[in-house]
Amino acid sequence: MKVKDFAIDEIFDSRGNSTIEAGIAVGNGFAFYASVPAGKSRGSREAAVVSFAEASSAKNLKRLAALKGKDFSNQRSFDEFLIKLDGTENKRMIGGNVMLGLSMAFARAAAASQKKELWESLQKEFFGKAVQKVWKPVIFSNLINGGEHARNDLNIQEYMVLVETRGDMKSAIEKLISFYRDLGEKLGTMKRISNIPIGDEGGYSLDFKNNFEPLAVLSDLVRKDGLSRTFRLGVDAAANGFSSGDAYLFDGKKVTTPKLAGIYEGYCKKAPALFSIEDPFSERDTTGFALLSKKLEGRMIVSDDLTVTNRSLIEEYAGKGLMNGVIIKPNQAGTVTETIEAVQGAHERGIRTIVSHRSGETDDVFIIHLAKAAGAYGVKIGAPTRERIFKFNELLRIA
Ligand code: PEP
Ligand code: MG
Repeated sequence: MKVKDFAIDEIFDSRGNSTIEAGIAVGNGFAFYASVPAGKSRGSREAAVVSFAEASSAKNLKRLAALKGKDFSNQRSFDEFLIKLDGTENKRMIGGNVMLGLSMAFARAAAASQKKELWESLQKEFFGKAVQKVWKPVIFSNLINGGEHARNDLNIQEYMVLVETRGDMKSAIEKLISFYRDLGEKLGTMKRISNIPIGDEGGYSLDFKNNFEPLAVLSDLVRKDGLSRTFRLGVDAAANGFSSGDAYLFDGKKVTTPKLAGIYEGYCKKAPALFSIEDPFSERDTTGFALLSKKLEGRMIVSDDLTVTNRSLIEEYAGKGLMNGVIIKPNQAGTVTETIEAVQGAHERGIRTIVSHRSGETDDVFIIHLAKAAGAYGVKIGAPTRERIFKFNELLRIA
């Protein structure tokens, strides 16, 4: 497919921050667009993010002009060309955000040229055939926000419900929406407030007694609403955010790695529905990940900032038994091909993948197609409200 032209535009994400929208014009005269989200709690090894001013500087546009008139046989060749053009380890020259926008826009153009849905054309190029006959993803929905995503005093960043879809997406999303409303009412009554603050991902973000209280509230409500068979619980501690030197500042106390592992273990005993723990320790604390993976066999220990959607990190840490699930975020990698390679590295080692949004989102639904193409175990898309609803609606359409 021949790239005729490209565009780098500025748009705003759900937090009101500037982000990139990229466009690719191809031979048939049509243009295809994609927008890139932005994370706040970032791993240190994520692909570089450049500002719109840098992205659209004369120097960068001149560099990217090499795309014009070039014919690419597939996504991989397009992405490899971009990677070469950038020439740095972390994509700081062109910008990982700019490269990803172009890469996703190219994927859309390629799908259209084959008259296929985006997920189908990604699946055809990278997976050969359907990875799962019927895709029944688990929805990871963040309903109580803390950490860097909220102004409350919770150290843990995300309290999620994990909703089984079991082939009936409509009923799963309906149950989730009604649970989200019930939770709002319950929290309003409990805390005696009518306007509950909302965090970055649409979850409630009020103050709690301690880091366990939200899990107790969610457990109770799941039971009361008779949802124990379809809803489990998960947290994203995003522990980079509360690490302090070699230890952690948790519930107002300094705790060591083994102590924090013991706290998580206690949470699982007190709230048995707690099934998945993401980034329980900081990205430097591989000892913590290994310890918790041994303690909590049968549950999911998920890495995000630790593995940053990087195939070799995933392979290395999976080999050491640090986790059995990974978060996949395209903008951590910076191209569609590298994102899919990370998924493949995980799946080859029996690691579950959860394709995820970022805290600063746009209405782009690319990740839903990527997750379906890959047959991912889960999709992590925030609370069913506001700008996050676009992803839910795309799930309803294609899953
Ligand atoms: C996360 O940590 O999983 C997350 C979605 O947050 P952010 O986008 O801020 O990294
Ligand atoms: Mg995370």
